[in-house]
Amino acid sequence: MKLTPHSSPAEPADLLIRMRNQAGSVVTITTSPKYRAPEAARAECSRCGVMAYSEKGLTAWAETHAAQCRAA
Ligand SMILES: [Zn+2]
Repeated sequence: MKLTPHSSPAEPADLLIRMRNQAGSVVTITTSPKYRAPEAARAECSRCGVMAYSEKGLTAWAETHAAQCRAA
């Protein structure tokens, strides 16, 4: 019997991370690794529109922002 493994789906070029808080803010992080900055990422808040870029990763920033963003 021949086993045919499922072909794994193509991985997206960018990894998206979304963070949502109770106020409805959604911060989207898009990683964009570079040669000297494998952690480089961009983030954008869908609620207030603020954008951020860091070569050290933005997970902590996104968590903080999502918690603080309560702009009406
Ligand atoms: Zn925001």
